[in-house]
Amino acid sequence: MARVQEQVEHHYHSTLVERVRAEGSVLHVGKTTLCLAKQFGFCYGVERAIDLAYAARKVFPRARLFLIGEIIHNPEVNAQIAALGIRNLLDESGRPHVEDLGPEDVVIVPAFGTTVPLVEEIKRHGCHIVDTTCGDVMSVWKRVRQNASEEVTSIIHGKASHEETRATASRALGNGNGRYLIVLNLEETDRVCDYLLGKASREEFLREFDGRFSEGFDPDLHLQRIGVANQTTMLREETEAVQRKLKAAITQRDGSPTNFRLFDTICGATQERQDALKELLNQPLDLLLVVGGYNSSNTTHLAEMGEQRVPTYFIRNQDCLENSRLIRHFDLHEKSEISSSVPWLPEPGVEARIGITAGASCPNNLIEEVMLRILALRGETLPTA
Ligand code: SF4
Repeated sequence: MARVQEQVEHHYHSTLVERVRAEGSVLHVGKTTLCLAKQFGFCYGVERAIDLAYAARKVFPRARLFLIGEIIHNPEVNAQIAALGIRNLLDESGRPHVEDLGPEDVVIVPAFGTTVPLVEEIKRHGCHIVDTTCGDVMSVWKRVRQNASEEVTSIIHGKASHEETRATASRALGNGNGRYLIVLNLEETDRVCDYLLGKASREEFLREFDGRFSEGFDPDLHLQRIGVANQTTMLREETEAVQRKLKAAITQRDGSPTNFRLFDTICGATQERQDALKELLNQPLDLLLVVGGYNSSNTTHLAEMGEQRVPTYFIRNQDCLENSRLIRHFDLHEKSEISSSVPWLPEPGVEARIGITAGASCPNNLIEEVMLRILALRGETLPTA
């Protein structure tokens, strides 16, 4: 493992980021102040998943190695994994190709886990499985399995297309007796509450949530007893509001909350990053840069938090910072990368305070590149340590 960690460090470490962190997370250079969130970047689950993927390559140097999708949601990290000769088991449409897998092959399960049927299929082919599923994700699975065993329907607050939510939904079926319904946000939660209180039609309900409930789901039967679980990387405030609304609706319907179960399944690392950003946003900032993969759920939520307080740009890496009047960034509303021709960065010579944070899947070397790019665009030179 020591050799593996050395290689991982070499790929993702940043001496500059470590130095700035050790000195209070603030870097002053000339008229530029870069303020880093107290917590950002790789979480323990991501570090473990990457270590295990690198270790798998060393333990099985000649075997065919496959990964189910992406190890984490960061394109640079995934490119490094591909460079180790680890191939994606999924095609572009997300379909797994398991037909020609054999006992000599190795399949890596990513940090967000995968569905029960796919794991069983891979086991049938006799492959070695390197399971990097994060312990925090497995805690959610434990909860939804418990719901299934007690005939409680799991209401999963998450993105239906996200690997983790699909994996959790498959566990919510238990031994075949479990049910689930996936809600994305507060608006959808309101629709569930309306149904619980007899204010919505069954047809409309089934149409709206089509594809996001378990087979045979009947809202009249299966919303009698519910338990909320969530994708570990959702926005905590939103998850808490989902819980409050559903509990209130059940209490109003039944006269007591007995038929409502609640488990807090936001992971510690997500929580720490959200709390650290809140603290950062309490400082005066000219703008905030959120760095990470555009399909990363926890990074998206950091960008949502920033947007409410200060001009915020969600960027993939330093290449997005074209010049001080042109920036490429992910638009949360358009759900695509856009180019903005705006003076997003204060002119050189003017005092500027720039906040920087990153999701749990972003390595420090990318943060360093962003910091150096900002300084270069501001005409500042980093003094040698
Ligand atoms: S974000 Fe949380 S659940 Fe996801 S890998 Fe990191 S620690 Fe685990």
